[in-house]
Amino acid sequence: MEDNYRHKGLRKKLVNELRKKGIIDEQILAAFMSVPRHLFLDSGFLEFAYEDKPFPIGSGQTISQPYTVAFQTQLLDVQRGSKVLEIGTGSGYQACVLAELGVEVYSIERQKKLFEKTKKFLSQFPYKLHLFQGDGFLGVPEHAPYDGIIITAAAPEIPQGLVDQLKVGGVLVIPLGEGSLQTMLRIVKEEDGSLTKQQFGGFRFVPMLRDSGND
Ligand code: SAH
Repeated sequence: MEDNYRHKGLRKKLVNELRKKGIIDEQILAAFMSVPRHLFLDSGFLEFAYEDKPFPIGSGQTISQPYTVAFQTQLLDVQRGSKVLEIGTGSGYQACVLAELGVEVYSIERQKKLFEKTKKFLSQFPYKLHLFQGDGFLGVPEHAPYDGIIITAAAPEIPQGLVDQLKVGGVLVIPLGEGSLQTMLRIVKEEDGSLTKQQFGGFRFVPMLRDSGND
């Protein structure tokens, strides 16, 4: 687990780039400074680790682009101690960024192999993460309700099961839409159960899938 001055220098450049692109939350930028993103990519890809681009992590999946991780995190609007459910653990990077912010993270991944690999990998970090393997459409009802839910795959619809697991006043951040481009939505669950939706720009995610995840 090497993390040296060179990596820190690359992270600083990335953080400056994110700042220029409109990420203004200093706590989020500090979290990006802390989490060693290069360790989440297979070794040999150091030069890609701190570019603001998505990257394949195996099993046909990707680690989201840093800007996307930062943008979704900003929309979630978390506090220290917030309880957040992430759909699509993937590499575990987003989960670690949230943990750095003092969030109590619950994360669910559909693909068994990727889940096992990421679980083992994440055990090296000091973060206390609650990791689950299963179908994110169903969420993790046994630990609900959550202050926030962040979906990190393209959702074909707003999953009702997840809305049910949000606290009143809770926030769902969801890239909505099939096909190659999704609309980022920030949805707040109101006291009467209605949803207030705000739309943000277009983003590209791998699809949220429904089957068992044995691939
Ligand atoms: N948050 C990740 C990036 C996720 S890529 C990171 O920081 O690296 C999207 C992930 O969602 C993939 O790992 C994919 O396997 C997973 N996924 C797709 N459909 C899912 C579902 N129904 N439930 C849970 N995870 C799902």
